[in-house]
Amino acid sequence: MVWIDVLNRCIFASERHTEPMSESFETLLQKTDFSHADLVTLLSAEGADKTRLFTHSAAIKKLYVGNKVYFRGLVELSNICSKNCFYCGIRAGNSKPERYMVTEDEVLEAARFALENGYGSMVLQSGERCDERFVDTVSGLLHKIKVLSDGKLGITLSMGEQKESTYREWFANGAHRYLIRIETSDRELYYRIHPHDKKHDFDIRIQALNTLREIGYNVGSGVMIGLPFQTLEHLAGDLLFFRQLDVDMVGMGPYIEHEDTPLFEFKDQLWSRKTRFDVSLKMVALLRIIMKDINIAATTAMQAIDKQGREKALKVGANIIMPNLTPVKYREDYLLYEDKPCLDEDASECRNCLEARIHMAGDEIGFNEWGDSKHFARRKP
Ligand code: SAH
Ligand code: SF4
Repeated sequence: MVWIDVLNRCIFASERHTEPMSESFETLLQKTDFSHADLVTLLSAEGADKTRLFTHSAAIKKLYVGNKVYFRGLVELSNICSKNCFYCGIRAGNSKPERYMVTEDEVLEAARFALENGYGSMVLQSGERCDERFVDTVSGLLHKIKVLSDGKLGITLSMGEQKESTYREWFANGAHRYLIRIETSDRELYYRIHPHDKKHDFDIRIQALNTLREIGYNVGSGVMIGLPFQTLEHLAGDLLFFRQLDVDMVGMGPYIEHEDTPLFEFKDQLWSRKTRFDVSLKMVALLRIIMKDINIAATTAMQAIDKQGREKALKVGANIIMPNLTPVKYREDYLLYEDKPCLDEDASECRNCLEARIHMAGDEIGFNEWGDSKHFARRKP
């Protein structure tokens, strides 16, 4: 109880001495449909308005998805990537990380840990590879995780863009959720943060999300917040994009610079890390308000900036946490961005720390449940 008070004070208290909330802000918040301009205004909320935004989104979370948080045990399967996204520390063009692939035994060990500890689901994430060997390896892993857990573990994939036949093969082998962040829904900005070539095609990335939906996956997307050249207008557009695409889940968090990437040269033009974090919280809150029954992840990048970042995200609307189950020896080589947390904490330390943190946020854990998005269940015929 004491911890909950402390956390509430952390999130809401900095505004205690500021101006009272304006009447027009309350009117805006109560609207049932938000225009792009409304969302920009809401993303700019400060002081008492911001506090009100957060209490409103927290109430909506409670009403529509309850206070259960679902775990997805994350295995960062491989840092081998054929792409060259300008922001990412494991891009093909960076020769510094030692490239790895977690072994089958290690993945199954992580699955066993997830099962024994009541995590209802796993996420397999990886750099993007489309070769046959990789596709077969993932299929084999999916099959074995399903056998090992007697079908009990739900599986999300985050393996980037693949051929339709691959998405289908992995679905048939037991994956039932797939996450592809659009990174930014603004085409122009997209090509400022990616090479403009066939491998990094904005339309193909959007098409991938539609294909996954047709196949029957729970479909997730997301963006980075505080990218170079990004504005609140772009982010308001991202929120509308998620709604238009009718996604089932979203994982989004602050962009964090990495010195061995091309975007690093713009580091002095970025919003401060605190602002990036703050806007990320507002994005989570607003997304919960406009897409009430989807799953929203409290992402690791939020924790990278603020030690209590994930708990704060849970408070204002998130309901999913992805504890890292990647064997510790690989973690130093999966540095998508700087200051990634929990590099040396193994799965059991991670679990203890997380449980305490979730209770701190006033939530409880949905042990042994898949915790699929309620939105997915509703949109299915
Ligand atoms: N290769 C797959 C999945 C792994 S990357 C894919 O790209 O879809 C997972 C996510 O890490 C990316 O979608 C991106 O949003 C995030 N990421 C990469 N570099 C980042 C950075 N510098 N700061 C914050 N997030 C980053
Ligand atoms: Fe590869 Fe994904 Fe990083 Fe892009 S974001 S370089 S696809 S791992």
